[in-house]
Amino acid sequence: MNQKTTLKGGEFIIKESKAEDIFIPEEFNEEQKLMADSCRAFTETVVVPQMNQLEKHDRALLTKLMKEAGELGLLGISVPEEYAGFGQNFVTSMLTTEEMGKGYSFAVAYSAHTGIGTLPILYYGNEAQKSKYLPKLATGEYIGSYCLTEADAGSDANSGKANAILSDDGSHYILNGVKIWITNGGVADLLIVFAKIEKDKNLSAFIVESTWEGVRAGVDEEKMGIKGSSTVQMYLDNVKVPVENLLGDRNDGFKIALNILNLGRIKLSGATIGASKGTIGLAVNYTNERKQFGKLLANFPAIKSKLAEMVILTYASESLTYRASQNIEDAIQEYIQQGMDKGKATVEGMRQYAIEASIAKIFGSETLDFVVDEAVQIHGGMGYSAETQVERAYRDSRINRIFEGTNEINRMVIVGELLKRSMKGEIDLIRSAMAVAKELIGIPEFGSPSTDYYEVKRKIILNFKKSILMVAGAAVQKFAQAFAEEQEIMLNVADMIIQTYAAESMMLRIEKLESKNGAAQVSLQKAMLDVFIYDSAFEINKYGTDAINSFAVKDEQQAMLMGIKRFTKISNVNVKEIRRMVADKLIEQNIYQF
Ligand SMILES: Cc1cc2nc3c(=O)[nH]c(=O)nc-3n(C[C@H](O)[C@H](O)[C@H](O)COP(=O)(O)OP(=O)(O)OC[C@H]3O[C@@H](n4cnc5c(N)ncnc54)[C@H](O)[C@@H]3O)c2cc1C
Repeated sequence: MNQKTTLKGGEFIIKESKAEDIFIPEEFNEEQKLMADSCRAFTETVVVPQMNQLEKHDRALLTKLMKEAGELGLLGISVPEEYAGFGQNFVTSMLTTEEMGKGYSFAVAYSAHTGIGTLPILYYGNEAQKSKYLPKLATGEYIGSYCLTEADAGSDANSGKANAILSDDGSHYILNGVKIWITNGGVADLLIVFAKIEKDKNLSAFIVESTWEGVRAGVDEEKMGIKGSSTVQMYLDNVKVPVENLLGDRNDGFKIALNILNLGRIKLSGATIGASKGTIGLAVNYTNERKQFGKLLANFPAIKSKLAEMVILTYASESLTYRASQNIEDAIQEYIQQGMDKGKATVEGMRQYAIEASIAKIFGSETLDFVVDEAVQIHGGMGYSAETQVERAYRDSRINRIFEGTNEINRMVIVGELLKRSMKGEIDLIRSAMAVAKELIGIPEFGSPSTDYYEVKRKIILNFKKSILMVAGAAVQKFAQAFAEEQEIMLNVADMIIQTYAAESMMLRIEKLESKNGAAQVSLQKAMLDVFIYDSAFEINKYGTDAINSFAVKDEQQAMLMGIKRFTKISNVNVKEIRRMVADKLIEQNIYQF
């Protein structure tokens, strides 16, 4: 049997993966599918029918639904069995998150509880903290929340003013502060609160119970969307927190917050995949019912084109998210084999793939925004009616580009992490960038082109990577440390990276599927890949050109513009015909099934 080769986080920019080494969603086993079915049944039959009431800030209903989810075991999927959970692996938890993602704003409450509300204790808690709190969180007896953001500390989360002072007798901390935008705040029993101890430079993390004196939740915020989730300000007024409720070590809070956000990011991407598939379902159902000019909407090519693009982007999002999820799972297992305990191994696994997690968050949230927007458009006036589900989907989608780190911050994380790893010698970007620079001044190879479908695609994607290395390499050389100030160029480079990772993940998935099921089974997927790569070439060309024109001049500029043209060269594709084919399949099935 061939040994599986897994690339380190971010390494995909300079190395290639083999299709056989990546995980694809078609490989979920029966047990995983059964868990997904339970989540789907719960959202479809219990959550969605009660959404109208839930959106009226009905905290009692929200609490009831969370408890019901707990009784069904849906809150403890990632929690080990010794703490009353199911101890499932990371990829399974991604699949269940995807299914729960179809539950509109309940999905936000669910994710906040199972993710940022529970995992800090699972990964950083000591044995006493874990055995005291995890069983309650896994069963729904307690609802969890995560209190990081403050009025003046949003993206700059470490600058918060919340403060804790050790009591004279050393038995407890006295905690003060105001946290804002706290999901589940109005129904929470447990709060993970980040605050600085005395005059510390960094945050520390505390486990706080909502019934303790001095803890008070404000009223539910009136929001654009996700109205069924409770979002409040949390007031902490001289709260006495026993010293044993400090989570991790003093000053560890910022590290905990960031590492938990890495996880939150990829989880959010899982939820957006579920929401995208659900919304595509609503859109196609409507096109199969609504008639204009004597024909079903499904017959209009302009509508088909929208449906197809919604499918293609969702398929790409799914391909990259599950590829990254399995990489994380493999890294976790490797760290465990090296002797790390599971909590630390999970945190390290997540950190290893922080670049991929940010890509997944951005791609998933922006795909969902596109999908809900087009779904409203397909519904015409009805899309604007509060009676339709797509109206809710549209309102609920927008937040995903803002929380778990805004998409701008996540783009900066992608490039910043990459450069940091290059500086540390973990990813040899410099040598790869120099090789591309050398290739640029050399004579292009004109060997006979391959006719193998995947060889051709691989070469195109390799060229996308070369364009990233060319632009990023030259920008780093030009600006050195000051590159961080050139945010526009960083955003351009991040977008080139995101598009490339998506294209490669989609290609590898389809190649693996073909090797399992034969070419006939993937002909439509290959056509979808043709469209995605074709579009990506134009996008990468635009981002690269914008970046080059913003810092290169004269000969260097000309050489790089020629380079970007060469590296994003693409054969012509009849995107119209392919989109019609994709839409026809969707219309025939009347549900997302690709
Ligand atoms: C509904 C909802 C639920 C939430 N739930 C929680 C929760 O449960 N717990 C919690 O702790 N927080 C929560 N948040 C807070 C959320 O994480 C923050 O809103 C988010 O991190 C952005 O911070 P901010 O709102 O202060 O925006 P800012 O940081 O003020 O950002 C404003 C704009 O400036 C940009 N920007 C900021 N810094 C930079 C920079 N260095 N370079 C370039 N651009 C920059 C941002 O991208 C953004 O476009 C929630 C927010 C909402 C709206």
